[in-house]
Amino acid sequence: MIDNMTVIERFLKYVTFDTQSDESTGVTPSTAKQMVFAQYLKTELEALGLEEISLDENGYLFATLPANVDRKIPTIGFIAHMDTSPDMSGENVSPRIVSSYDGSDITLCASDGIVLSPRQFPELKDHIGEDLIVTDGHTLLGADDKAGIAEIVAAVAYLKEHPEIEHGKIRIGFNPDEEIGLGAHKFDVEKFGAQWAYTMDGGEVGELEFENFNAASAKICVKGRNVHPGYAKNKMINSLLVANEFISMLPANETPATTEGYEGFYHLIGMEGEVEQTTLAYIIRDHDRQKFEIRKKLMSECAARINEKYGDGTVKIEIKDQYYNMRQQVEPLMHIIDIAFAAMQEAGVEPKVKAIRGGTDGAQLSFKGLPCPNIFAGGLNFHGRYEFVPVQSIEKAMRVIVKIAELTAKRY
Ligand SMILES: [Zn+2]
Repeated sequence: MIDNMTVIERFLKYVTFDTQSDESTGVTPSTAKQMVFAQYLKTELEALGLEEISLDENGYLFATLPANVDRKIPTIGFIAHMDTSPDMSGENVSPRIVSSYDGSDITLCASDGIVLSPRQFPELKDHIGEDLIVTDGHTLLGADDKAGIAEIVAAVAYLKEHPEIEHGKIRIGFNPDEEIGLGAHKFDVEKFGAQWAYTMDGGEVGELEFENFNAASAKICVKGRNVHPGYAKNKMINSLLVANEFISMLPANETPATTEGYEGFYHLIGMEGEVEQTTLAYIIRDHDRQKFEIRKKLMSECAARINEKYGDGTVKIEIKDQYYNMRQQVEPLMHIIDIAFAAMQEAGVEPKVKAIRGGTDGAQLSFKGLPCPNIFAGGLNFHGRYEFVPVQSIEKAMRVIVKIAELTAKRY
């Protein structure tokens, strides 16, 4: 019976579906196999007796657990993604549970000598005594984000079995293509109809994230003037050298390799050129919106200074904003963080608030009108063969979801 599976049984079932997404196909969902999993999930939600179940042609699966009290409580949502990373195969995932982990090396595949060791992954030591779900060393596990899906489904199943826990209307949403940056893309926020939601897509137990980078890309095109090198004095402009000049005008200690926490950066991601023309590609990142704007301005000023020196049109710069920090969307609604914080504490989990040094689907959803912080799903070493998830972490995340539903109802 699929309506009384445990959260771990659900997770182990979900990882048998290969749902790897693919950047190159240009369709949604990017791979048909994600739809196969969505259809299976739909049957589980039906068996649970959820309502308003819908699976659209893009592979977005929504469902409702109706409120069990009459008073007005805001509708909240829980979201997870169905796809796994294109970085590593998700075909024939063959998980194994290492019971009461003792802190030693875990052999994933003896014949190929693939070992999950606390020497490379010291975070294993935080899970001694727990039961770890690991791979066979040849695929990723898919805890990112099938752990999130299992936690959400199991939590609504639990709430259904426990009518004594009062809760408002709960919407759940499973989307394709998060790993290729398109999870929020065709997410119908209006149809989802929640006042706020949480993505269950973080890593280690306790993670609670509602800040991410503001992000822009910059393309710098430098035009040179090529002349026979023997006759080039005061005539040649070597665009490679001018580009190099531009690079050195930016602060050398503000790169990804020299920053952490809330420190922003300029990141040179591409460089291509010859004497005649050189292009530079940068990404610009900062959590602080004002500093972010200053960074973009500095880049434009550097371009202007070069043009002053070598002549107008030597450097052309094109800066495009990519996404913004969801904090500005979440801050006016700080109670959604407070509720998650309190829910973790009541579930016996110490909340660890941390700023994401990247973007998330939740950030995009927040700017589409669905404020959406991110909560841990429990998995570690995402996107590769060393991915693992402690059984106890999945169970904790599930309890946090139940508590969030309960505490939201208590406030109203
Ligand atoms: Zn994920």
